[in-house]
Amino acid sequence: MWRDLLPLGRHPGTGGYRRYAWTGADAECRAWFATQAELRGLRHEVDRNGNQWAWLGDPADGDAVVTGSHLDSVPDGGAFDGPLGVVSAFAALDELRRRGTSFSRPLGIVNFGDEEGARFGLACVGSRLTAGRLTRAQAHRLTDGDGTPLPRAMEAAGHDPDAIGPDPGRLARIGAFVELHVEQGRALDLSGDRVGIASAIWPHGRWRFDFRGEANHAGTTRLADRRDPMLPYAETVLAARREAELAGAVATFGKIAVEPNGVNAIPSLVRGWLDSRAVDQPGLDAVVAAVEKAAREHAAAHGVELDVVRESRTPVVEFDHALRDELARILGRDRTAPVPVLGTGAGHDAGILSGSIPTAMLFVRNPTGVSHSPAEHADEDDCVAGVLALADVLEGLTGT
Ligand SMILES: [Zn+2]
Repeated sequence: MWRDLLPLGRHPGTGGYRRYAWTGADAECRAWFATQAELRGLRHEVDRNGNQWAWLGDPADGDAVVTGSHLDSVPDGGAFDGPLGVVSAFAALDELRRRGTSFSRPLGIVNFGDEEGARFGLACVGSRLTAGRLTRAQAHRLTDGDGTPLPRAMEAAGHDPDAIGPDPGRLARIGAFVELHVEQGRALDLSGDRVGIASAIWPHGRWRFDFRGEANHAGTTRLADRRDPMLPYAETVLAARREAELAGAVATFGKIAVEPNGVNAIPSLVRGWLDSRAVDQPGLDAVVAAVEKAAREHAAAHGVELDVVRESRTPVVEFDHALRDELARILGRDRTAPVPVLGTGAGHDAGILSGSIPTAMLFVRNPTGVSHSPAEHADEDDCVAGVLALADVLEGLTGT
């Protein structure tokens, strides 16, 4: 499976993947999925929102167990984020057939469309639409960087954009969704485990910091006379790092806009965006409050005005406790030590669906923690351990 997927949407210059929703590369990945379903005698369907499903048994029987992930990528993404969950799903089914498992519940393998949001700027469009967390009207307003609206892109790829929307009937037939994913951090590497279970997706948010000073000549304005917003901005970046370290959270200023943005001009405005994530909401609130307090003190010291605007806020996603405990029990059977349970700062389709159906996630060790990069990696032995763990879970949930 990896050999077939390897060249699809891979950029020859960077070695990274550019599998964006409703593009040619996306179509090639979808054709690959349909072929894998067909090879295994599974019933393949594309739902109203462009998600692909491969069914063993009849989903209409209800209480189905579904596994899978996504095949699209971020710009110059790695090979594993997404595809590992889909490849492992097919491989786990192969393993269960080898074991002679008979299934008491329908089993589905899914490829959710447009998970990364690389083209239209919103992540998890396929699962959001299905779960009713994105309306058709909202989706129709999305456009890509070239100004192509999402509906036109869907149409060009042969999908009816007027059919998209909530799909509660489909979700009602699913009893559990388990997504396997490459870890996007180093927790398993540090603990020495191949596979872990997700506890929760950390709450996160974005805040815009506007530091307003006074533009002036970089050569003739005495240092003492300046109101330079770059200085409190720089001190705020350092404060964010310090506060995140103290709280065991993460905080990042990764985007900045400067006016007038001249080499020889003291800026009038420095606008920086803070992305911060923490284990829980009080922890996140405390980090951001501390960063804002530091920013206000530094701004005042330099005669600079500061506005802080919260642009987004995503609450914590707790995965279904009963399903999580069931996974821990299944995977813990032949082990002396418990399977590690870890939180993550990254979003997933499983997080979107957790509001509608019981969901769980398995993580496979990533030796460097690098993700969303061509350097993203998982060792073959760990990938095999992930497949076997997923097979055990599917057998435990669906086997008779
Ligand atoms: Zn992913």
